[in-house]
Amino acid sequence: MQYTEQLLERFLNYVSFDTQSKIGAKTSPSTTGQMKLAKVLEQELYSLGLENIEISKHGIVTAYLPGTVADAPTIGLISHLDTSPQCSGKNVNPEVIENYRGGDIALGLGDEFISPVTFPFLQKLVGKTLIVTDGKTLLGADNKAGISEIMTALSVLKASNQPRCHLRVAFTPDEEIGLGMKFFPMDKFPCDWAYTIDGGEVGELEYENFNAASVTVTVPGRAIHPGYAKDKMINALTLACEFQQGFPVDEVPEKTEDKQGFFHLNSFHGDIEKVELHYIIRDFDRANFELRKQFVKKLVADFNRKKGLKKPLHVVITDSYYNMYDVVRKIPQAIELADQAMKDIGLTPIHQAIRGGTDGAWLAEKGLACPNIFTGGYNFHSKHELITLEGMRDAVNVIIKIAQLAVK
Ligand SMILES: [Zn+2]
Repeated sequence: MQYTEQLLERFLNYVSFDTQSKIGAKTSPSTTGQMKLAKVLEQELYSLGLENIEISKHGIVTAYLPGTVADAPTIGLISHLDTSPQCSGKNVNPEVIENYRGGDIALGLGDEFISPVTFPFLQKLVGKTLIVTDGKTLLGADNKAGISEIMTALSVLKASNQPRCHLRVAFTPDEEIGLGMKFFPMDKFPCDWAYTIDGGEVGELEYENFNAASVTVTVPGRAIHPGYAKDKMINALTLACEFQQGFPVDEVPEKTEDKQGFFHLNSFHGDIEKVELHYIIRDFDRANFELRKQFVKKLVADFNRKKGLKKPLHVVITDSYYNMYDVVRKIPQAIELADQAMKDIGLTPIHQAIRGGTDGAWLAEKGLACPNIFTGGYNFHSKHELITLEGMRDAVNVIIKIAQLAVK
């Protein structure tokens, strides 16, 4: 197809910007590189002929492409500007490998390589055009592939005379540090539903994520010289260890998968005087999620009673985000349409649940259903990140198909 070159060109351009986000930064966006890319995208949207193009002071770019059928729905498309803080995104030096023959791929001139032994999915990519790194940085397909795919789909749709629905786009900063939606202008993004283009393997369609809460348990103690401590010392460290034994040993991240939830002890720090235990709670099912929170509260209350502590353990539980499915299921066409679009271009949709959260979860809380669609990339947040040009093209075609099918 005609647009493959512009798709690749866009992608290689976007990954040349260092947009790594930074935890703990006082500004939003957290890094200046994200604003630079946002401005480039703003200009590009102008040249594509979109309307209502705006860039907020926090680096959020929004724009509108009117449909050709007045009463057609308005669908949102979202990707994020930043790359993961876990791996450098500076001086990304991508390498394009045409017609991958299988086997190990040397990355750059160093000793980094990717192998089908470690990454069996490579076997499925034989014959395809791979874009890999030089082994020194991540690639940035997460999520610049999404941005390239949205931009390319917009340009194809704009040039075509086929009927299409109304589209709104948003490119957001700081997704990787959980702040992507902090300043999101919901009023400038009125949509019937939306999609993040931020998934992995071709065919992926995600519309369920964890319900999530964080828990802090504070354990008070009393320090005193160990030589004279009898009946006086209260060791918060040993109390905290004993308290931790009350959790079910199998309901932890390292022993759960698929739709199973967990309690996860994230950090344990302190001394004899005081210990703080930080947990996270995760569950797909809202009722079970509530039960898990009650379980922790009861565990603390029972522990306090059993020990007869003058200074009892104290617990604070804060909800972080909820399963978007509770909102998405009220707009079943959001899933059906994406499903149909994939089938229409010969793909098999892979429905899976996200064992984490997404910007879509935040949007769902605001009432906007927002499933996540694949970009075609693999090994995100890593020097071994890669993507296929064919997969990116599939994503473009899915977006185009969605816009066209939505009219019917
Ligand atoms: Zn992402």
